[in-house]
Amino acid sequence: MDAQRATCRGSLALGLLLAVACSSDPVAIPVDRSAEKTEESAQSESGPARILTPPLGPKPSVEAEPELLESIRTFLPNGGRRVSCGPYSLWTDVRDPSLLVALDVLASRLDTEYQARLGLTPQGPSRETIVLFANLRDFQRWESADDGSRRGYAGHSSASEGVAVLHADRPPEDVLATTIHELAHLVHRRALGSPLPRWLSEGLADALADSASGEGFLPLDSVVGDEGGARRLQSALRAGHAVPSLAELVAKGPASFDRVSPNSEVRTSYDYELSAFFVRFLLVQPDLVECFKGFLAELAAGGRWSEDSLWLHLDQHPEELDERFRRWLLE
Ligand SMILES: [Zn+2]
Repeated sequence: MDAQRATCRGSLALGLLLAVACSSDPVAIPVDRSAEKTEESAQSESGPARILTPPLGPKPSVEAEPELLESIRTFLPNGGRRVSCGPYSLWTDVRDPSLLVALDVLASRLDTEYQARLGLTPQGPSRETIVLFANLRDFQRWESADDGSRRGYAGHSSASEGVAVLHADRPPEDVLATTIHELAHLVHRRALGSPLPRWLSEGLADALADSASGEGFLPLDSVVGDEGGARRLQSALRAGHAVPSLAELVAKGPASFDRVSPNSEVRTSYDYELSAFFVRFLLVQPDLVECFKGFLAELAAGGRWSEDSLWLHLDQHPEELDERFRRWLLE
């Protein structure tokens, strides 16, 4: 491993950035693991680096409207039943007691783990509701009725509506990971605010989800917890596929994240895996983790997201960091 600078820098250059208005329309982005219905777009698509996004900062959690919950529970057999899941309300027709206990334990520890891992303190109580379908068929019936364009995903979350909806028709460890991924999106609202850039929102969610297990949260280390995603990314890099650079990844706005251009020879998006492992890389590198936490802390204190602020905090040149990241991933 190369010797790296361990100093962190602030974001003094922020005041020089140009203001660009962002869309306030809700967007639903197709993704392969889960779908987060964001409140507004996090980045403009119009330029690479000189963008000033709205100030971030924690917001109170949202309690789901009763009408919304009733409309989702219509697709649960007999409306499901309400069970304990940490501070969250959980409506489900799942009967597996060991799965429900594991979810309860993880949800109870999520705020503490979020704080320990990211250095951010979620503000106020969690008031959101989870709806967990036992059967994929029922979940897909809800998906089709709610928004036909979002079919085929493992879970959805909307912090602005106070709800996470997912299915348990898969191995228990995948259900635990997907649930924590969706809940982390909800916690983002209380810890960082919105709108977050997609790479950061998804990467942070996976930094918690990939370590969720029946024994609680495991330490984040190497590629443990997402070996499949790591293999996919490693194979693509070794085969010379067009995997975006880190600079290209963080420049992606909501309309281009996890999307493949119809004119491109590349048929696969690696944005999810790249986001997950970039954030993990930043959290496990001793010389980068405090710099990254400083970047997060500035956002949580009402800062504005920009690519410049990230590179400035990390005190790294994007191309050099990209080379180092790829070496780490292929080790
Ligand atoms: Zn997500």
